[in-house]
Amino acid sequence: MNAAEQPLLPLCRRLRDARRAKGMTQSELAGQVGCQQSAISMLEAGRMEALARPTVEKMAALLGVDLDTEPARDALPSATGSGRGFCPNGDCPSNVPFAIGGELIFWPRRQPVEGGRHCAFCGEVLERVCRQCGAPATEGACCATCGTPRVPPPPLGDSDLDHWAETRRRCIADWRALHAQ
Ligand SMILES: [Zn+2]
Ligand SMILES: [Zn+2]
Repeated sequence: MNAAEQPLLPLCRRLRDARRAKGMTQSELAGQVGCQQSAISMLEAGRMEALARPTVEKMAALLGVDLDTEPARDALPSATGSGRGFCPNGDCPSNVPFAIGGELIFWPRRQPVEGGRHCAFCGEVLERVCRQCGAPATEGACCATCGTPRVPPPPLGDSDLDHWAETRRRCIADWRALHAQ
């Protein structure tokens, strides 16, 4: 009966602001995520159903917008990222891959580091800073300071990256569905 709780800034607004901050047009963004410019326009106007969720995730990864904060959650340790880390393992289900411009980019799910510094999914030691420049790891697939991807891609040989990423995302969705029980 109650309306859903409104986060401070709706996702559509944050995506739009992030795109503008990067100096990208809707058409450029549409080209990179593989959708129509009109869909981006609708999405930014608040019609989230204009794009399929995987496309929204790809867009968020590209723009450095954290989908994990959607909807807004309370009681997060801090917004600076100091209390959360990410898993540097490309094969870990906490990292969602996207094939963008011929490379694999991983969107890490940040995890709380209190009570153990290890990834809850694969046991790898969580990282809290950029391995390239040492800046604290905040949200996003790449370091906000130097642009280095958080998660190095695993060696894939001649694999079709798009196909690999898509298959992988499906596995991760299944895996999470199982573990959410
Ligand atoms: Zn992991
Ligand atoms: Zn960096």
